[in-house]
Amino acid sequence: MTRKEKADLVLDRLRDRIPRAETELDFGSEFQLLVAVILSAQCTDARVNEVTPALFEAYPTARAMAEAEAEDLFPFIRSVTYPNNKAKALAKTARMLVEDYGGEVPREHKELVKLAGVGRKTANVVVQVAFDEPAIAVDTHVFRVANRIGLVNDKPTPLAVEKGLRRVLPRETWGEAHHLLILHGRYTCEARAPKCDRCPLAEPAASGEPVCDYFERLQKLPGPVEGLDAKKGRYWSKTSGRYFDEPATRTDRYGVEQLCEPSTGSMNLFETRTGRTTKRVKDYRVG
Ligand code: SF4
Repeated sequence: MTRKEKADLVLDRLRDRIPRAETELDFGSEFQLLVAVILSAQCTDARVNEVTPALFEAYPTARAMAEAEAEDLFPFIRSVTYPNNKAKALAKTARMLVEDYGGEVPREHKELVKLAGVGRKTANVVVQVAFDEPAIAVDTHVFRVANRIGLVNDKPTPLAVEKGLRRVLPRETWGEAHHLLILHGRYTCEARAPKCDRCPLAEPAASGEPVCDYFERLQKLPGPVEGLDAKKGRYWSKTSGRYFDEPATRTDRYGVEQLCEPSTGSMNLFETRTGRTTKRVKDYRVG
């Protein structure tokens, strides 16, 4: 299966699972969308939706917010992450919109990124959601899910993931794909504990090939070993048959730091208390 074929299959399966592929941020205008997306950086959409009704009632437009100082905005947004910086960014952006863009949100990506608090990801969301332009915003969910599934090949940065996704996804699906991957990451392929047991991508393709690379690697991890004696040491090496307490570490070919037996360097270790392998699969969590 080529990466493009995989991308088509992933989108098909996610469409079946997620009928409404759209932003979960609440907003009533392009300006309010811009504000909500700025507030959502490193914060949950649910938290942003708690604070924006009062904020938008007090400052519904760029012209209204341009009259405010950061200190005026701060009390409305104090419960989101980085409220000081975001209050300053909102006040500055509102003034820039009024002074440079007639109070309107610009449609062009290159203009949007000139605004305070607006980076590449925020601008991508705004052009896609507000103006229906093809764009793929890569947040922490899209970064993790695209790498885990293997829609991109072990890309280290959001920009590299964005470029990789643009190559494999048809242009007309970019906006939809962005929302599908975010929602899949938020509710199923979660950072700490992906729910593979109820994920539509855990099923192989009709050809028998795996759809999700991460799930495939999880399946290949060695199963638990029974009958280990925890009194003899915390770890047991299958390679040498020895017990020991203090492991060393080694980086595997995927760049993941693994525990290893100090004397042999073997990574084929098991915890004696649980019998489980100590091997970890690269999971692309950010932070
Ligand atoms: S199978 Fe698991 S790791 Fe793969 S996409 Fe689904 S939840 Fe994520």
